[in-house]
Amino acid sequence: MKFALLIFSVLALVWLLRAASRRRVRPPDPGAPAKPPQAQAMLACSHCGVLMPRDEALPGRGGVFCGAEHRDSFERSHPSP
Ligand SMILES: [Zn+2]
Repeated sequence: MKFALLIFSVLALVWLLRAASRRRVRPPDPGAPAKPPQAQAMLACSHCGVLMPRDEALPGRGGVFCGAEHRDSFERSHPSP
């Protein structure tokens, strides 16, 4: 009988812990609309004119560039005074 009581109390404890953790972790509200991805400004490379998102643009002398090669090439052909 003692053994059954022990098993029962352990099960009750596990059940209580699981219920408590389930209460703490709330599922995301299905009513809230998902955030749309932010629209990003597109910039043109000063060397080749390719469009790229602002995050990927490489700033340099004379504008923004799609990569270091184009920045260096542009800066070589347009030396600063
Ligand atoms: Zn380019």
